[in-house]
Amino acid sequence: MTDAALLADMRLPLLGLDMAALEAEVERLQLPRFRARQLWRWVWRHGITDFSDMTDLGKPVQQLFAGRFHADRPAVSRRQKSLDGTIKWLLKMADGQEAEMVYIPEEDRGTLCISSQVGCTLNCSFCHTGTQRLVRNLEIDEICGQILLAMDELGDWPAGKPDRRLTNIVLMGMGEPLYNYDNVRDALKIIMSGEGIGLSRRRVTLSTSGIVPEIHRCGADLGVNLAISLHAVTDTLRDKLVPINRKYNLEMLVDAVRQYPGLSNARRVTWEYVMLDGVNDSLSDAKKLVHMIRGIPSKINLIPFNPWPGTDYSCSDDQTIDQFAKIVMKAGYASPVRTPRGRDILAACGQLKSDSVRLRASQRQ
Ligand code: SAH
Ligand code: SF4
Repeated sequence: MTDAALLADMRLPLLGLDMAALEAEVERLQLPRFRARQLWRWVWRHGITDFSDMTDLGKPVQQLFAGRFHADRPAVSRRQKSLDGTIKWLLKMADGQEAEMVYIPEEDRGTLCISSQVGCTLNCSFCHTGTQRLVRNLEIDEICGQILLAMDELGDWPAGKPDRRLTNIVLMGMGEPLYNYDNVRDALKIIMSGEGIGLSRRRVTLSTSGIVPEIHRCGADLGVNLAISLHAVTDTLRDKLVPINRKYNLEMLVDAVRQYPGLSNARRVTWEYVMLDGVNDSLSDAKKLVHMIRGIPSKINLIPFNPWPGTDYSCSDDQTIDQFAKIVMKAGYASPVRTPRGRDILAACGQLKSDSVRLRASQRQ
């Protein structure tokens, strides 16, 4: 869309409205409230974007809605499929900014990894996304739009059908979800609403580098699964790897997780730990790790570091990862090493970064 067309388009994005907001809009159009529920079902249950396909609305209502709303998804700039079936999309928002999304098929589930921001302000030293300069929050409709786009492409309508390919959502793409908390919360509430997609909160996992006050809010408002990007067990090292640690240190972080509501053996928090050669992968690190989280129902995810162009880090060797994993397993945590997926298309953890920005950077050189 050109800038002029964008300005001329005063239609509201339906994907950014919750039911109450939609009802208010429908009443503003002088229509009865039940029209909002009909519209909602077409959009969230059936994935319909063309108002003329909404067969229980008369022509005049269809036209009224078409002039007032749209249900557009982000545009796709590029789509790549890995040899292992992983799909990565580079998505373009209406203002031209880009973010990435990844679908990971497994035997018993299909997980969509979505972005919450364009780029990330946090600059964790081992993360590719953190090196991207352009940063902005994604809007509610841009967060929901990622999920609907994936469902379109995976043939997952109507929502909730038994053989659906998208079963789980993780907020582990670009951005720090708890730095865009309000939009992430509102988008997840829409996605989890029973009248729409109805995804259970047990199938949603939010990963954070540790924004402590928002961890509390997230627990109270959403109760989704929590994953913590830990990566270090001393403040000195974590200050370097995950700089937000200077504001919310390990003690505050572990405390916040301990208080997260609903944790049990059936619902554990995930500790993500990237294996960096000679940096955080010693046996004493492993012992400190299991000691630090003692008493918290936990899973530990050892993530082999995924290299990206220009990084100084490398991945720990297999033997070191094995030994680290053994200590973790001895403490009672099952098979903790995560197999990287979609490495051939740079879709694995921490490799996400809009190609457009990469291109500009390489042009600069
Ligand atoms: N900002 C959030 C969510 C996105 S990152 C967070 O940091 O939790 C998703 C996961 O990938 C995080 O655990 C992150 O630390 C990890 N990660 C980042 N860069 C990585 C890399 N190069 N290799 C492996 N994992 C990486
Ligand atoms: Fe941001 Fe997460 Fe990457 Fe850190 S690891 S820079 S918080 S996306």
